[in-house]
Amino acid sequence: MPTEIISSAAPVSPAHPAALNWVASGPKRLWIDGQWQEATSGRQIESINPETETTLTSIADANASDIDRAVTAARRAFESPAWSSITPHQRTFFLLKIADIVEAHGEELATIETLDNGMPLWYSTASVRAVVEQFRYYAGWPTKIFGSTNPSAPNILNYTLREPVGVCGQIVAWNVPLVMSAMKIATALACGNTVVLKPAELASLSTLRLAELIEQTDLPPGVVNIVTGLGSGAGSAIAAHPGIDKIAFTGSTAVGKQIMRAAADNMKKVTLELGGKSPNIIFPDADIDQALDFAVRSFCGNSGQVCSASTRVLVHQDMHDEIAARVATMAASYKVGSPFAADTKLGPLVSAIQRDRVMGYVEAGKRGGATLNFGGERVGSQGYFVQPTVFSNVDNSMTIGREEIFGPVVSIIPFRDEEDAIRKANDTTYGLAGAVWTRDISRAHRVVRAMKAGRVWINSYGDADPVMAFGGYKQSGLGREYGQESIEAYTQVKSVWARL
Ligand code: NAD
Repeated sequence: MPTEIISSAAPVSPAHPAALNWVASGPKRLWIDGQWQEATSGRQIESINPETETTLTSIADANASDIDRAVTAARRAFESPAWSSITPHQRTFFLLKIADIVEAHGEELATIETLDNGMPLWYSTASVRAVVEQFRYYAGWPTKIFGSTNPSAPNILNYTLREPVGVCGQIVAWNVPLVMSAMKIATALACGNTVVLKPAELASLSTLRLAELIEQTDLPPGVVNIVTGLGSGAGSAIAAHPGIDKIAFTGSTAVGKQIMRAAADNMKKVTLELGGKSPNIIFPDADIDQALDFAVRSFCGNSGQVCSASTRVLVHQDMHDEIAARVATMAASYKVGSPFAADTKLGPLVSAIQRDRVMGYVEAGKRGGATLNFGGERVGSQGYFVQPTVFSNVDNSMTIGREEIFGPVVSIIPFRDEEDAIRKANDTTYGLAGAVWTRDISRAHRVVRAMKAGRVWINSYGDADPVMAFGGYKQSGLGREYGQESIEAYTQVKSVWARL
């Protein structure tokens, strides 16, 4: 049964009028030092609606001199008593205030995200809820960032202070734009830093609207600066800027490597959240219904544009054909269509380039000898829609078993036994996430220990909470975001020796 663009009979949630008005209110500018400013070059980049392929509005294309202005503002704000001398309680207050304002504008922000990125409205609505939760979670941290008192000689007082890093350059991808921008801003602010953040050129609008909402909290000017623009211009200027103390990047592994090289010149602290090709191992004794439900929801969620998605499903060879057929049937029932339709499971991909990239991988899968169980076609002639696509009999030597596709394509891989499953799961340059499904508790923990990945689920997939650290093993990244680990990444330790 082929998936189709859903008909007009499907109930359509209305786009929020405030969002439509905001999008239509004219070209967007840069937010630097608490003011909305034009890009020095005067250049604008079109924001395209991936459902309709029409222009929504345009965003400013910042260049190196704009970045320099933003860094100067962030440095001034970092050193100003209006920010550096406020109490941790006051930082908590700002973060709670931002959470409240975001919550009050939740429907509007969700519509903006859906228009710009193409994710279904239910997905963007859930994203905004996650954003509110993130701000509230980080609001709890400022009063809990401790140094330590260390035992030394009787006439010595030795202790540590945990201090902010300084000006943080933050660069994010387009797949869940608001979640990533909000998490990075919240962590930096909780620790007393200031921020120059660049959203992705393909989906910057929700972050710009967030900046307007933050403006309403009376946060001192320059504490948060939002600069839009291209990766090659604004992005590389942030990575190389000598006035930036820390860089936090979310994006592809290839660009992550460039960021690391550029950051070396002034020894910026670096955290990198990069790509993935995550294994999801399902043993025969698992609750197979539940395992497949999570697997399909994961590789189809946000049309597969999720770094930690379950893109390699490893199943026992005796169940392989049956599971491949079941996954294909489930994927076929997932509706592809307007992101504003209530029953849509997959909206469009973010851009024509991303759609063509995914279709290129589908062709590689067919050429490479994998079995195509379902999908593999574009949907409709307008918008960047692609069917959920199921390949089975995949092995790790095939392109689709190795490379990150970042689209709704799953590879089902047969394994012989536990050892074979672990070997195949770890046979990748990535190490972002993974899961194991089994009712055997010893096996579950054995496999978790053996898995080379930064986030691992047992009998679940994709669940998240801001308390839970996130980051990659191997080429999936460096450092951790979320949880206590993120506080460590946004602070530095000063060790104090006092002779009494
Ligand atoms: P990308 O690396 O092309 O771009 C990410 C960001 O970097 C964008 O803002 C872009 O403008 C900027 N950029 C591009 N070139 C740059 C350069 N030379 N210098 C500085 N900045 C530059 O990635 P993408 O296509 O936007 O996103 C998809 C990738 O992001 C996937 O690999 C995905 O796995 C990864 N991702 C990872 C996580 C995670 O948390 N690990 C989350 C989301 C996405």
